[in-house]
Amino acid sequence: MFPGAFSYTRATSVADAVARLQANPDAKILAGGHSLLPAMKLRLALPGELVDIRDIADLRGIDVNDDAVVVGAMATYNDIRDNAEVAAALPILVEAIQILGDAQVREHGTLVGSLVHNDPAADLTAVVLALGGSVHAVGPNGERDIALDDFFVDLWTTQLEPDEVVTQVRLNRPSATSRMAYRKYPHPASGYAVVGVAAVVEMDGDTVASARVGLTGATNTAVRLTALEDALAGSKLDEASIASLVQGSVEDLTINGDQFASETYRANLIEVLTRRALLGD
Ligand SMILES: Cc1cc2nc3c(=O)[nH]c(=O)nc-3n(C[C@H](O)[C@H](O)[C@H](O)COP(=O)(O)OP(=O)(O)OC[C@H]3O[C@@H](n4cnc5c(N)ncnc54)[C@H](O)[C@@H]3O)c2cc1C
Repeated sequence: MFPGAFSYTRATSVADAVARLQANPDAKILAGGHSLLPAMKLRLALPGELVDIRDIADLRGIDVNDDAVVVGAMATYNDIRDNAEVAAALPILVEAIQILGDAQVREHGTLVGSLVHNDPAADLTAVVLALGGSVHAVGPNGERDIALDDFFVDLWTTQLEPDEVVTQVRLNRPSATSRMAYRKYPHPASGYAVVGVAAVVEMDGDTVASARVGLTGATNTAVRLTALEDALAGSKLDEASIASLVQGSVEDLTINGDQFASETYRANLIEVLTRRALLGD
Protein backbone atom coordinates (compact mmCIF):
# COMPACT_ATOMS: atom_id res chain seq x y z
CA MET A 1 0.00 0.00 0.00
CA PHE A 2 1.84 3.06 -1.28
CA PRO A 3 0.48 6.62 -1.16
CA GLY A 4 0.44 8.86 -4.22
CA ALA A 5 3.35 11.25 -4.78
CA PHE A 6 3.49 14.24 -2.44
CA SER A 7 5.94 16.87 -1.22
CA TYR A 8 6.61 17.53 2.46
CA THR A 9 6.94 20.88 4.27
CA ARG A 10 7.59 21.58 7.96
CA ALA A 11 5.68 24.73 8.87
CA THR A 12 7.49 27.11 11.22
CA SER A 13 4.38 29.01 12.33
CA VAL A 14 0.61 28.95 11.94
CA ALA A 15 0.88 31.80 9.40
CA ASP A 16 3.41 29.72 7.46
CA ALA A 17 1.06 26.70 7.46
CA VAL A 18 -1.88 28.83 6.28
CA ALA A 19 0.29 30.32 3.52
CA ARG A 20 1.22 26.81 2.32
CA LEU A 21 -2.46 25.76 2.25
CA GLN A 22 -3.37 28.91 0.37
CA ALA A 23 -0.53 28.49 -2.13
CA ASN A 24 -1.34 24.86 -2.85
CA PRO A 25 -5.02 23.79 -2.86
CA ASP A 26 -3.80 20.16 -2.87
CA ALA A 27 -1.93 20.60 0.42
CA LYS A 28 -3.12 19.09 3.71
CA ILE A 29 -2.06 19.59 7.30
CA LEU A 30 -0.19 16.66 8.87
CA ALA A 31 -0.54 16.37 12.66
CA GLY A 32 -0.05 12.89 14.21
CA GLY A 33 -0.74 11.23 10.85
CA HIS A 34 -2.79 8.37 12.29
CA SER A 35 -5.83 9.10 10.16
CA LEU A 36 -4.26 10.88 7.22
CA LEU A 37 -1.46 8.42 6.44
CA PRO A 38 -3.72 5.32 6.43
CA ALA A 39 -6.15 7.21 4.16
CA MET A 40 -3.26 8.09 1.83
CA LYS A 41 -2.02 4.50 1.73
CA LEU A 42 -5.52 3.39 0.75
CA ARG A 43 -5.57 6.21 -1.84
CA LEU A 44 -8.67 7.63 -0.17
CA ALA A 45 -6.67 10.86 0.21
CA LEU A 46 -4.21 12.09 -2.42
CA PRO A 47 -2.72 15.34 -1.10
CA GLY A 48 -0.01 16.86 -3.29
CA GLU A 49 1.75 18.33 -0.24
CA LEU A 50 1.84 17.56 3.47
CA VAL A 51 2.30 20.54 5.77
CA ASP A 52 3.67 19.16 9.04
CA ILE A 53 2.77 21.35 12.04
CA ARG A 54 4.67 19.45 14.74
CA ASP A 55 7.45 22.10 15.02
CA ILE A 56 4.99 24.82 16.06
CA ALA A 57 5.59 24.66 19.82
CA ASP A 58 2.65 26.95 20.67
CA LEU A 59 0.21 24.32 19.41
CA ARG A 60 1.18 21.71 22.01
CA GLY A 61 -0.21 23.51 25.08
CA ILE A 62 -3.12 22.57 27.32
CA ASP A 63 -4.70 25.21 29.55
CA VAL A 64 -7.23 24.44 32.28
CA ASN A 65 -9.18 27.32 33.79
CA ASP A 66 -12.42 27.70 35.77
CA ASP A 67 -14.63 27.71 32.66
CA ALA A 68 -12.87 25.61 30.08
CA VAL A 69 -10.12 23.24 29.04
CA VAL A 70 -8.26 24.56 26.01
CA VAL A 71 -6.35 21.92 24.06
CA GLY A 72 -3.74 22.93 21.47
CA ALA A 73 -3.90 21.34 18.04
CA MET A 74 -0.67 19.35 18.53
CA ALA A 75 -1.47 18.10 22.04
CA THR A 76 -1.49 14.33 21.70
CA TYR A 77 -3.92 11.93 23.32
CA ASN A 78 -1.22 11.01 25.84
CA ASP A 79 -0.51 14.68 26.61
CA ILE A 80 -4.19 15.05 27.50
CA ARG A 81 -4.42 11.74 29.37
CA ASP A 82 -1.35 12.54 31.49
CA ASN A 83 -2.48 16.05 32.46
CA ALA A 84 -3.77 15.87 36.05
CA GLU A 85 -5.76 19.10 35.71
CA VAL A 86 -7.61 17.76 32.67
CA ALA A 87 -8.30 14.49 34.47
CA ALA A 88 -9.87 16.45 37.34
CA ALA A 89 -11.87 18.83 35.13
CA LEU A 90 -12.96 16.47 32.33
CA PRO A 91 -12.69 12.84 33.47
CA ILE A 92 -14.90 11.83 30.53
CA LEU A 93 -12.20 12.92 28.06
CA VAL A 94 -9.47 10.89 29.76
CA GLU A 95 -11.82 7.92 30.12
CA ALA A 96 -12.54 7.95 26.37
CA ILE A 97 -8.86 8.35 25.42
CA GLN A 98 -7.89 5.35 27.55
CA ILE A 99 -10.11 3.05 25.48
CA LEU A 100 -9.25 4.50 22.07
CA GLY A 101 -6.86 3.07 19.46
CA ASP A 102 -3.58 1.52 20.58
CA ALA A 103 -0.39 2.76 22.28
CA GLN A 104 1.04 4.24 19.05
CA VAL A 105 -2.19 6.03 18.16
CA ARG A 106 -2.41 7.52 21.65
CA GLU A 107 1.25 8.59 21.56
CA HIS A 108 1.04 10.46 18.25
CA GLY A 109 -2.65 11.11 17.51
CA THR A 110 -4.22 14.43 18.43
CA LEU A 111 -7.68 15.39 19.62
CA VAL A 112 -7.89 18.13 17.00
CA GLY A 113 -6.79 15.76 14.21
CA SER A 114 -9.56 13.38 15.19
CA LEU A 115 -12.18 16.16 15.20
CA VAL A 116 -11.09 17.53 11.81
CA HIS A 117 -10.96 14.04 10.28
CA ASN A 118 -14.51 13.41 11.61
CA ASP A 119 -14.60 9.66 11.14
CA PRO A 120 -18.18 8.48 11.76
CA ALA A 121 -16.86 5.93 14.30
CA ALA A 122 -14.44 8.23 16.14
CA ASP A 123 -14.84 8.33 19.91
CA LEU A 124 -14.04 11.90 20.82
CA THR A 125 -16.52 13.56 18.47
CA ALA A 126 -19.29 12.33 20.80
CA VAL A 127 -17.37 13.42 23.90
CA VAL A 128 -16.78 16.98 22.68
CA LEU A 129 -20.44 17.31 21.65
CA ALA A 130 -21.48 16.29 25.16
CA LEU A 131 -19.15 18.90 26.65
CA GLY A 132 -19.77 21.72 24.16
CA GLY A 133 -17.29 24.43 23.22
CA SER A 134 -15.62 25.67 20.07
CA VAL A 135 -12.83 25.16 17.59
CA HIS A 136 -10.48 28.05 16.84
CA ALA A 137 -9.40 28.28 13.21
CA VAL A 138 -6.95 30.56 11.41
CA GLY A 139 -7.21 31.15 7.67
CA PRO A 140 -6.12 33.64 5.02
CA ASN A 141 -9.03 35.92 5.93
CA GLY A 142 -8.39 35.93 9.67
CA GLU A 143 -9.46 33.93 12.70
CA ARG A 144 -12.80 32.52 13.76
CA ASP A 145 -14.43 30.32 16.39
CA ILE A 146 -16.71 27.55 15.22
CA ALA A 147 -19.12 26.13 17.82
CA LEU A 148 -18.66 22.39 18.24
CA ASP A 149 -22.44 22.06 17.84
CA ASP A 150 -22.01 23.27 14.23
CA PHE A 151 -18.58 21.80 13.44
CA PHE A 152 -19.45 18.26 12.28
CA VAL A 153 -21.31 18.38 8.98
CA ASP A 154 -21.32 14.91 7.42
CA LEU A 155 -19.16 11.86 6.82
CA TRP A 156 -15.49 13.05 7.06
CA THR A 157 -16.70 16.62 6.58
CA THR A 158 -16.58 19.61 8.93
CA GLN A 159 -17.16 23.36 8.74
CA LEU A 160 -13.40 23.90 8.33
CA GLU A 161 -12.28 25.42 5.01
CA PRO A 162 -9.42 23.66 3.15
CA ASP A 163 -7.09 26.64 3.75
CA GLU A 164 -7.80 26.94 7.49
CA VAL A 165 -5.66 25.59 10.32
CA VAL A 166 -7.19 24.72 13.68
CA THR A 167 -5.02 26.06 16.48
CA GLN A 168 -7.02 24.83 19.49
CA VAL A 169 -10.28 23.40 20.75
CA ARG A 170 -12.01 24.93 23.75
CA LEU A 171 -14.08 22.48 25.80
CA ASN A 172 -16.60 23.77 28.33
CA ARG A 173 -15.91 22.72 31.89
CA PRO A 174 -19.02 21.30 33.61
CA SER A 175 -19.66 22.09 37.28
CA ALA A 176 -17.88 20.04 39.93
CA THR A 177 -21.15 18.29 40.83
CA SER A 178 -22.00 17.26 37.27
CA ARG A 179 -21.98 13.63 36.19
CA MET A 180 -20.22 12.55 33.01
CA ALA A 181 -19.45 9.25 31.34
CA TYR A 182 -18.60 7.74 27.95
CA ARG A 183 -19.69 4.23 27.04
CA LYS A 184 -18.88 2.45 23.79
CA TYR A 185 -19.20 -0.89 22.11
CA PRO A 186 -15.81 -1.20 20.42
CA HIS A 187 -15.35 -2.85 17.07
CA PRO A 188 -13.49 -6.08 17.93
CA ALA A 189 -10.91 -5.59 15.16
CA SER A 190 -10.26 -1.84 15.10
CA GLY A 191 -11.39 -0.60 18.51
CA TYR A 192 -13.38 2.20 16.88
CA ALA A 193 -16.90 2.78 18.22
CA VAL A 194 -19.59 0.58 16.66
CA VAL A 195 -21.69 2.86 18.85
CA GLY A 196 -20.46 5.30 21.49
CA VAL A 197 -22.48 7.57 23.79
CA ALA A 198 -21.15 10.42 25.93
CA ALA A 199 -23.34 12.08 28.57
CA VAL A 200 -22.71 15.19 30.67
CA VAL A 201 -25.46 15.88 33.20
CA GLU A 202 -25.85 18.89 35.48
CA MET A 203 -27.93 18.00 38.55
CA ASP A 204 -30.24 20.11 40.69
CA GLY A 205 -30.55 18.03 43.85
CA ASP A 206 -31.74 14.64 42.69
CA THR A 207 -33.22 15.83 39.39
CA VAL A 208 -31.55 16.67 36.09
CA ALA A 209 -31.06 20.42 35.55
CA SER A 210 -29.66 19.98 32.04
CA ALA A 211 -28.02 17.27 29.98
CA ARG A 212 -25.93 17.00 26.83
CA VAL A 213 -25.67 13.62 25.10
CA GLY A 214 -23.34 12.94 22.16
CA LEU A 215 -23.66 9.89 19.91
CA THR A 216 -21.04 8.42 17.56
CA GLY A 217 -20.74 5.31 15.38
CA ALA A 218 -24.38 5.04 14.40
CA THR A 219 -25.00 7.95 12.05
CA ASN A 220 -22.99 9.63 9.24
CA THR A 221 -21.53 12.06 11.72
CA ALA A 222 -21.62 12.42 15.49
CA VAL A 223 -24.78 14.12 16.73
CA ARG A 224 -26.37 15.32 19.94
CA LEU A 225 -29.53 13.55 21.09
CA THR A 226 -31.34 16.83 21.66
CA ALA A 227 -34.85 15.40 22.06
CA LEU A 228 -33.54 13.15 24.84
CA GLU A 229 -31.65 16.06 26.43
CA ASP A 230 -34.89 18.08 26.55
CA ALA A 231 -36.86 15.17 27.94
CA LEU A 232 -34.29 14.52 30.68
CA ALA A 233 -34.54 18.02 32.13
CA GLY A 234 -36.50 17.80 35.39
CA SER A 235 -36.37 14.00 35.47
CA LYS A 236 -34.78 11.91 38.17
CA LEU A 237 -31.62 10.14 37.11
CA ASP A 238 -32.46 6.54 37.87
CA GLU A 239 -33.22 3.46 35.79
CA ALA A 240 -37.00 3.69 36.16
CA SER A 241 -37.20 7.41 35.35
CA ILE A 242 -35.03 7.38 32.25
CA ALA A 243 -36.01 4.01 30.68
CA SER A 244 -38.88 5.30 28.54
CA LEU A 245 -37.05 8.56 27.69
CA VAL A 246 -34.05 6.66 26.37
CA GLN A 247 -36.27 4.30 24.40
CA GLY A 248 -37.61 7.23 22.38
CA SER A 249 -34.15 8.65 21.72
CA VAL A 250 -33.49 6.77 18.48
CA GLU A 251 -36.76 7.58 16.74
CA ASP A 252 -35.54 10.63 14.78
CA LEU A 253 -32.16 9.20 13.81
CA THR A 254 -31.07 7.83 10.44
CA ILE A 255 -29.01 4.90 11.72
CA ASN A 256 -26.46 3.19 9.47
CA GLY A 257 -26.13 -0.56 9.15
CA ASP A 258 -23.17 -2.47 7.69
CA GLN A 259 -21.71 -5.97 7.59
CA PHE A 260 -20.59 -5.62 11.23
CA ALA A 261 -23.75 -4.28 12.84
CA SER A 262 -27.24 -3.88 11.39
CA GLU A 263 -29.34 -0.76 11.85
CA THR A 264 -31.51 -2.62 14.39
CA TYR A 265 -28.49 -3.82 16.33
CA ARG A 266 -27.04 -0.31 16.46
CA ALA A 267 -30.43 1.10 17.56
CA ASN A 268 -30.40 -1.34 20.45
CA LEU A 269 -26.81 -0.44 21.33
CA ILE A 270 -27.74 3.24 21.42
CA GLU A 271 -30.43 2.57 24.03
CA VAL A 272 -28.23 0.33 26.16
CA LEU A 273 -25.17 2.60 26.03
CA THR A 274 -27.17 5.78 26.57
CA ARG A 275 -28.66 4.29 29.75
CA ARG A 276 -25.18 3.26 30.93
CA ALA A 277 -23.62 6.64 30.10
CA LEU A 278 -26.40 8.50 31.94
CA LEU A 279 -26.31 6.24 35.00
CA GLY A 280 -22.51 5.78 34.94
CA ASP A 281 -23.00 2.00 34.97
C1 LIG B 1 -4.74 1.51 14.26
C2 LIG B 1 -5.62 2.69 14.54
C3 LIG B 1 -6.65 2.56 15.46
C4 LIG B 1 -7.47 3.65 15.75
N1 LIG B 1 -8.47 3.49 16.66
C5 LIG B 1 -9.27 4.54 16.95
C6 LIG B 1 -10.32 4.42 17.91
O1 LIG B 1 -10.54 3.37 18.54
N2 LIG B 1 -11.10 5.52 18.14
C7 LIG B 1 -10.88 6.71 17.49
O2 LIG B 1 -11.60 7.66 17.76
N3 LIG B 1 -9.89 6.86 16.60
C8 LIG B 1 -9.09 5.81 16.31
N4 LIG B 1 -8.08 5.97 15.38
C9 LIG B 1 -7.92 7.28 14.68
C10 LIG B 1 -7.14 8.27 15.53
O3 LIG B 1 -7.61 8.38 16.80
C11 LIG B 1 -7.29 9.72 15.05
O4 LIG B 1 -8.23 9.86 14.04
C12 LIG B 1 -6.02 10.29 14.59
O5 LIG B 1 -4.97 10.08 15.46
C13 LIG B 1 -6.20 11.79 14.23
O6 LIG B 1 -5.25 12.64 14.79
P1 LIG B 1 -3.87 12.89 14.02
O7 LIG B 1 -3.16 13.92 14.82
O8 LIG B 1 -3.18 11.60 13.82
O9 LIG B 1 -4.39 13.54 12.65
P2 LIG B 1 -3.82 13.39 11.17
O10 LIG B 1 -3.96 11.98 10.72
O11 LIG B 1 -2.48 14.01 11.06
O12 LIG B 1 -4.88 14.33 10.41
C14 LIG B 1 -6.22 13.94 10.27
C15 LIG B 1 -6.96 14.97 9.42
O13 LIG B 1 -7.09 16.20 10.13
C16 LIG B 1 -6.42 17.26 9.44
N5 LIG B 1 -5.79 18.07 10.49
C17 LIG B 1 -5.10 17.61 11.56
N6 LIG B 1 -4.76 18.62 12.36
C18 LIG B 1 -5.23 19.76 11.78
C19 LIG B 1 -5.20 21.14 12.13
N7 LIG B 1 -4.61 21.56 13.27
N8 LIG B 1 -5.80 22.02 11.33
C20 LIG B 1 -6.41 21.62 10.18
N9 LIG B 1 -6.48 20.33 9.78
C21 LIG B 1 -5.90 19.40 10.58
C22 LIG B 1 -5.44 16.60 8.49
O14 LIG B 1 -5.17 17.39 7.35
C23 LIG B 1 -6.21 15.34 8.12
O15 LIG B 1 -7.17 15.62 7.14
C24 LIG B 1 -7.25 4.91 15.09
C25 LIG B 1 -6.20 5.04 14.16
C26 LIG B 1 -5.39 3.95 13.88
C27 LIG B 1 -4.28 4.10 12.88
